[in-house]
Amino acid sequence: MKAVSNAVDSERLWDDLMALAGFGAREDGGVCRHALSSEDIAARSWLIGKARERDYSIAADDAANLFITRAGRDNALPPVLAGSHMDSQPAGGKFDGAYGVLAAFEALRALDDAGIETARPVTCVAWTNEEGGRFHVPCTGSRAFVSGAVSDPAQTDDAGISLESALRSTLDAAPDIERIAPGFPVHAYVEPHIEQGPVLEREELPIGVVTGIQGVRWFTVRVEGEPGHAGTVPQASRKDAFQAAMRAIAALNTLMADTDDIVRFTVGHLSIEPNSPNTIPAAVRFSIDFRHPDAAVLDERGGKVADIIAEAVQPCTADTQLTTSLEPVAFPDPVTSAISQAADGAGLAHKPLASGAFHDAAHIASACPSGMIFIPCRGGLSHHPDEWAEPEACTAGARVLAGALAQLAETN
Ligand SMILES: [Zn+2]
Repeated sequence: MKAVSNAVDSERLWDDLMALAGFGAREDGGVCRHALSSEDIAARSWLIGKARERDYSIAADDAANLFITRAGRDNALPPVLAGSHMDSQPAGGKFDGAYGVLAAFEALRALDDAGIETARPVTCVAWTNEEGGRFHVPCTGSRAFVSGAVSDPAQTDDAGISLESALRSTLDAAPDIERIAPGFPVHAYVEPHIEQGPVLEREELPIGVVTGIQGVRWFTVRVEGEPGHAGTVPQASRKDAFQAAMRAIAALNTLMADTDDIVRFTVGHLSIEPNSPNTIPAAVRFSIDFRHPDAAVLDERGGKVADIIAEAVQPCTADTQLTTSLEPVAFPDPVTSAISQAADGAGLAHKPLASGAFHDAAHIASACPSGMIFIPCRGGLSHHPDEWAEPEACTAGARVLAGALAQLAETN
């Protein structure tokens, strides 16, 4: 385990990270690499080219998930899988997703370079459309892997291109790799990722052993009022949809209050109709993003959201829709302990940490024992051009991954 950790090549990994960041590079130093875009297709073909330099097998499934496999002693055994996604937010950074794919690819090469044979094959994966930036339902690839089919292939991007046709273009661009159906038996899955939060940096820890991913409830709310002239309609007889929405949000803040600071509650999108300075707002739409690691808390508080809004917006009315409901995921011991042991073996300090953000691992966790490795990122910043992870941090995570994969690829 130690030999493979030591075989991780810092410079090679860093060069790869910077090279991948060149596909969709923004002038401000960030990255815009939408899923299945020409930039994404070019990045995939770059990675396929690198995989061909080694004796790896390469395959893609119907969701254009890309699999690069280093053979084991018994290739009939389900592989150990590691990776993340290569798509970015429109104003994203160099590391979110990209790091996980390239750390996994580096781990494959480290296994080669350390001369280690594993019982099971080890596969590096790049999942399609994790971010949902272009096709708005996120985690297209990991969802398809678990369910066996791409969901809603007819959905279109802002230019009217369907997911189905974008998938076809991407797959057609790499005609000489093996095509497989989505989903196959996997022994374990490990996803390395920047933390996207401040904890590891603040505590000067190189490694977070992720214990799980908190659950999510997303709502959209439409408050209906009555438009009118801002100068003539008396205050007392108004049905001002914006004032009503503000009362609703204040009431939700009370519902979501948490002295332990574990609840995450955000109203991130709000629109006003007609959005005119001298017209009383007729309607307001706003979003609710509510997260917590405990399903009971999600159900209990999430279940009260619609009633609290309806009460607070009076005399206006509100329509509250639950649009997404994702249960919390707990990562199991065989994977978390392999990660902890690999960190110990590499002499890297670590702590258990829950993930605040959502990841492909949340979906894959329903198919096989899964886990994640977090590395610190500057200021906890992500989904931003200034997103940054130090080279040593990237190396540390890849060393832990390589050690964990070597161990998991030997176990029953
Ligand atoms: Zn990500």
